[in-house]
Amino acid sequence: MMLLACASPEISPGYLARLSIGRRDGFLLTLREWAFGPHLIGMATCPRCGDRLEFSFEVADIRATPEREPEPDEEFSIAVCDYEVAFRLINSQDLLEILDSGDLVSARRILLDRCILAVSYRGIESSLDSLPDSVVNRVAMEMELLDPQGDLQLSLSCPSCSHRWEAPFDITSFFWTEIEGWVRHILRDVHTLARAYGWRESDILAMTAKRRLIYMELVDR
Ligand SMILES: [Zn+2]
Repeated sequence: MMLLACASPEISPGYLARLSIGRRDGFLLTLREWAFGPHLIGMATCPRCGDRLEFSFEVADIRATPEREPEPDEEFSIAVCDYEVAFRLINSQDLLEILDSGDLVSARRILLDRCILAVSYRGIESSLDSLPDSVVNRVAMEMELLDPQGDLQLSLSCPSCSHRWEAPFDITSFFWTEIEGWVRHILRDVHTLARAYGWRESDILAMTAKRRLIYMELVDR
């Protein structure tokens, strides 16, 4: 949300917090593409043999295209068996609420409490507790369909042992890690150029990346 707020100061933080996770992540993907390009490289550990492997893909490969982009707080409903359930999609506020929940069961309960808006059974108002697990699972599946960018799985295969598995891809932590690496890289350049030429940090940072790179190559010689 901090990254999106920097990139789009005209959008209120409250609106960003209420965007569905899929829409938020879609915006983050676009921002990542603008910042570092469309090519992504990641690392994973094979769950069978423990080898580290590098994988790469394009932003377009993981960009989900739902029929329609959900609006913040938009209400949906689904009829399963004799139940009718009104719900909204999970947003960043909901994820903040489960940060300290401790375990999966209570996290799941908090999300359901927040996102399931009304339950009725054969037309009579009912409660969340009355919902069978099968109905809850159908609601979860429907959420996934409505907000496909919110839960991305990458199909990976290990070159060492041929094991295949699905790994979740989280653009938030991926992009954040990249930004941290980029900052370290820039600071290293600042350090090198400041030491070589005695320039101030602000002057080095004000240069274009291309200009800085040329100076870096000259220093390395
Ligand atoms: Zn392996």
